[in-house]
Amino acid sequence: MTVSADGKRADSGTPLLEVRDLVVHHGQLRAVDAVSLRVLPGEVYAIIGANGAGKSTLMRTIAGLHHPTSGSVLFDGTDVTGLRPERRAARGIVMVPEGRRLFGSLSVEENLKVGATYARQGPWTIEQVYEMFGWMRERRKQLTAQLSGGEQQTVALGRALVANPRVLLLDELSLGLAPVVVQRIYGMLPQILATGLTVLLVEQDVSQALRVASHIQCLLEGKTTLEGRPADVTADQVEAAYFGLAGAAPARPPGEGSEP
Ligand code: ATP
Repeated sequence: MTVSADGKRADSGTPLLEVRDLVVHHGQLRAVDAVSLRVLPGEVYAIIGANGAGKSTLMRTIAGLHHPTSGSVLFDGTDVTGLRPERRAARGIVMVPEGRRLFGSLSVEENLKVGATYARQGPWTIEQVYEMFGWMRERRKQLTAQLSGGEQQTVALGRALVANPRVLLLDELSLGLAPVVVQRIYGMLPQILATGLTVLLVEQDVSQALRVASHIQCLLEGKTTLEGRPADVTADQVEAAYFGLAGAAPARPPGEGSEP
């Protein structure tokens, strides 16, 4: 299934990635509190929420970097909750982490090679990344520490792509970047999706998330406060859900309201 030009889900079929009732603690803190979501193949699903809402913890748990207290993560119908991060990556769950986490003392190409180390078979190669981001080929020998924030973010994206993910987890792509740079990076999404990828992203920039996503979920203090298609939620509902104001629309059970 693919997402249509207006960003709507083309059907409500079987999710590629599913999270059921996930609870994740950091010590005593319940950072993710009974969150569920269903990401359909080919769509862009966005998690929004303020600082500390639990977005990164949710993403990292899906990638296998945190152990949930309870709940499960299913990928392509298989429970992967107990799998180590590298095993999940081998199945196609690949994350671009918050803050990029490049190896600053390595060159652009060396960073891309790291991503390709345990790559699945698929359309993405380092050459393919250079095709999409021409400047990277010209500067492939440059250390990533010397790149601008936007360039570093693009290399981090390229590093994830060469692993040939089936679902790409993007944690705060826009963090610390100028709006024009953010637009440029998000502008590449359609081309990336066209290669058959599915995207789950975390974004504090709500308008950006609403622009690119076919489905959004808002978290507040670890809990789901709103869930639905951007076209079906009002700006007031999003604001209320984001800030925890009275009048936030009740969260829908995952999947409900996802019919075309
Ligand atoms: P941000 O946009 O600021 O990254 P977030 O929505 O991604 O916020 P998380 O980073 O998941 O939120 O954090 C959720 C809560 O868990 C916050 O209260 C945070 O302080 C806490 N937290 C996150 N990571 C840890 C950790 N490793 N140890 C202890 N507490 C943590």
